[in-house]
Amino acid sequence: MSRRPVAQINLAALQHNLARVRALAPSSQVLAVLKANAYGHGLVRVAQALTDADAFAVARIDEALALRTAGIVKPIVLLEGFYEAAELPILLANNLQTVVHNELQLSALEQTSLDGQLKVWLKIDTGMHRLGIEPAQFELFYRRLWQCSAVLPGIRLMSHFCCADERGSERTSQQLAIFSELIRDKADQCSLANSAAILAWPQSHGEWVRPGLMLHGISPFAEQTGQQHQLLPVMRLSSRLIAVRQVQQGETVGYGGQWQAKIPTTLGVIAVGYGDGYPRHACNGTPVWINGREVPLAGRVSMDMITVDLGPNAHDKLGDEAVLWGPELAIERIALSAGTIPYELLCNITPRVDYQYLS
Ligand SMILES: *Cc1c(COP(=O)(O)O)cnc(C)c1O
Repeated sequence: MSRRPVAQINLAALQHNLARVRALAPSSQVLAVLKANAYGHGLVRVAQALTDADAFAVARIDEALALRTAGIVKPIVLLEGFYEAAELPILLANNLQTVVHNELQLSALEQTSLDGQLKVWLKIDTGMHRLGIEPAQFELFYRRLWQCSAVLPGIRLMSHFCCADERGSERTSQQLAIFSELIRDKADQCSLANSAAILAWPQSHGEWVRPGLMLHGISPFAEQTGQQHQLLPVMRLSSRLIAVRQVQQGETVGYGGQWQAKIPTTLGVIAVGYGDGYPRHACNGTPVWINGREVPLAGRVSMDMITVDLGPNAHDKLGDEAVLWGPELAIERIALSAGTIPYELLCNITPRVDYQYLS
């Protein structure tokens, strides 16, 4: 029996979540965001399972090329675009669409002698202040892109929200208003909504929605779980008990001796640690699911192990399965306990973890 952590990936749940996106945004096409190894779920397997998506988006060109190498033929959008003119023939040869968010990219497109045309998404900064052109530059960029022989007619227009996960935030309304005003006389397809906006800002859906986190069954809202949005968790991260032992009242456990037994109890040692991607900052009391109940983390997370308080009358045995997150235990709760967000937990999973795909 394996004593390594296992990430089971439920592809049927993934497909359910995509159907949920479609139900929430029935008039939009779906640009499924698969950056960072599909949020730690496995880029190629996730793409292969999302047959019902209209297109895929990744952050970087190597992610897009990995999808092409695996035989994925759907349109792929590079969310950060390209960095040098030398990449343009690679984009064309691999049917990659590019975001344009700065002058360098625009002039590279104007000057290239590319033997074909690229699909372009023009990114406007409406308040995130990360990537995107200023609203005041919009008309000029728009006109220059239309005149560009390397650009396919029909530019798509996009922006990104900074606070869509705060329901009722004025920032989102302001960003929406800036965007709507800019594009008011344009007939082009638009895209604004990430998972949070798909769920909380239906007026932002436009022609293309861009779900990432919610496809994996997870809520983008800090105090909610995917279940509350009728999403199904896709990943189930589990490992096994590798030691069960008694500790006396007053004994401490783990590095720093930072957890102390208040009463005599049974301690379980589980084969997962920060070397696998379990968060080192998970605090005492972080829940772990084992044999049908939740038990609290007791003591610091080590590289290969965690320790849990199984309770005084525990019957758990060596080799029993422990679930770190999954259908039994919402990853959103673990993120809160570790002072982070589910996105980071997923991205931090290391190659030591075995992946199993269930269809
Ligand atoms: C990551 C990303 C998304 C998806 O965000 P989620 O919160 O995971 O749904 C959408 N658009 C852009 C530009 C992104 O970078």
